[in-house]
Amino acid sequence: MRIVIIGAGVVGLSIARVLSMYKGLDIVVVEKEPDVGWGASKANTSIIHPGHEEDPELHPLRARLCVEGNKLWRQWVKELDIPAKWPGELMVFTNSEEEKEALRYIDTARRNNVPGVRAVYGDELRRLEPAISPMAVGAVYAPTAGNISPFEAVAALAENLVENGGRILVNTLVKSVRIKGKAVEGVETSGGFIQADIVINAAGVHADEISHSAGVEEDFVIKPRKGEYIVFDEDTSVKPLRLLHTTPTSLTKGVYAITTTGGDLLIGPTAVDMPYELKDDTSTTLEGIEYLLREAGKLLREVPPRSLITRTFAGVRPEPPHGEWLIKVYEEPWGFINVAGIRSPGLTAAPAIAYYVADMISKSYAVSLERRSDWKPYRRGFPRLHGKSLREIDELVSVNPDYGEVVCYCRTVSKAEILEAVKRIKTIGAQVTLDGVKFRTKAGFGRCQGSFCRWRIAGIIAGLEGKEMHEVIVKRERYGLGDVKKMLREGT
Ligand SMILES: Cc1cc2nc3c(=O)[nH]c(=O)nc-3n(C[C@H](O)[C@H](O)[C@H](O)COP(=O)(O)OP(=O)(O)OC[C@H]3O[C@@H](n4cnc5c(N)ncnc54)[C@H](O)[C@@H]3O)c2cc1C
Repeated sequence: MRIVIIGAGVVGLSIARVLSMYKGLDIVVVEKEPDVGWGASKANTSIIHPGHEEDPELHPLRARLCVEGNKLWRQWVKELDIPAKWPGELMVFTNSEEEKEALRYIDTARRNNVPGVRAVYGDELRRLEPAISPMAVGAVYAPTAGNISPFEAVAALAENLVENGGRILVNTLVKSVRIKGKAVEGVETSGGFIQADIVINAAGVHADEISHSAGVEEDFVIKPRKGEYIVFDEDTSVKPLRLLHTTPTSLTKGVYAITTTGGDLLIGPTAVDMPYELKDDTSTTLEGIEYLLREAGKLLREVPPRSLITRTFAGVRPEPPHGEWLIKVYEEPWGFINVAGIRSPGLTAAPAIAYYVADMISKSYAVSLERRSDWKPYRRGFPRLHGKSLREIDELVSVNPDYGEVVCYCRTVSKAEILEAVKRIKTIGAQVTLDGVKFRTKAGFGRCQGSFCRWRIAGIIAGLEGKEMHEVIVKRERYGLGDVKKMLREGT
């Protein structure tokens, strides 16, 4: 039986991982971008939420799958070797109105069986978080919150899927779902027709369009809600120990100030509803930056100067009507499944969503899911030069001399890591791009933002692929100004 999953984000690939555990399924993930994880799954706050912010009466499924997802990630990050931390989170309040709002979540935690959620004040708050702002009156502490490296999570899921026999087709845009009679027949894509017995729609902000093409949920329209971020230089003195955030509003879970698994100070997101046609707009704005810096003052004792901002970026939330995830199996067209409008806490819930979908397939379509005995749960990352002692570096270099050649000085990334990243991109069937290498190695994440290393990495890729340097792809566009030799030849 062939199952086509549309979208190689954390949701699509988590579903693919769980389905790959069973016998007799041919799993094909179809992705419009050159690589996996380039939608919301790469550009989010990276929090594995405890589940105390999901109202079990208003959103029972979201609440349940968030709590289950938090538990499952603890196992998955070990199996897949994904960078993760579990420092707990502090929902900070700065006045009595915010305090009243924040304390409500202690009751929500109780109703969702989230352990250890309580209010903290004064010395205890400052002991838990030495970097806390003097504006903070108190906080609601949720000890089971964590954060992961979201891109590495997606890359790891992709590698593990391919290891278990699944396939990923990149640069393949799904145009529509083809229906024959009362059942799905497959998907029409930019690369031709792909037959499928079951089609799972996990297309992020574009999932409503896919659903409409299958003739279901005509009223289901995804509203794009942009979230902007700022990232500070690795050397900033303020690095919160916990995951700090302001008291939530009706639009968001608040603005966070966190130390990422890579060691950067990240502040965000904003929450701005965008016109429908700007679903893929990830531009950032001066207003966004100003707002985040102001909000950060409620969280941190000292907000670093803006001269230490190394990067701004944005992600787009796929906001469904009434905030309700659409996870549904259809009798007609038989074989079509929506996993659409997966807004926050979709990263957290992804593993639990995946088991939920597998269960729906087995129950609704009477597919008997029998576990494979040869399924491999593990995937290993590769050694990093960054943060290693001299003795450890010596050991790495003695095994692989390319670890002795530093390519990115800001983040101490070696040639060996660049080569390994390229190898892994090819293994999952993705296209080698400068961004794909950057997100897998962190080369270009530092102070100079790749001004020094980018051309060197382009040179390595060009050498490996037998290309000219200008032919190397950054994200979708080519690297550099153009074909210099041709320009010289033609005198342009
Ligand atoms: C600003 C922001 C902050 C967030 N913070 C958190 C957080 O801290 N914790 C948390 O739990 N959640 C968070 N979330 C939510 C979380 O990021 C999402 O719920 C999750 O990433 C959704 O994953 P997905 O796979 O459904 O979507 P995506 O990652 O967007 O994946 C969808 C994929 O489908 C592909 N695609 C789309 N259309 C087509 C097509 N026609 N053909 C082929 N491919 C297609 C896209 O290219 C994309 O790769 C946040 C989201 C945002 C935007």
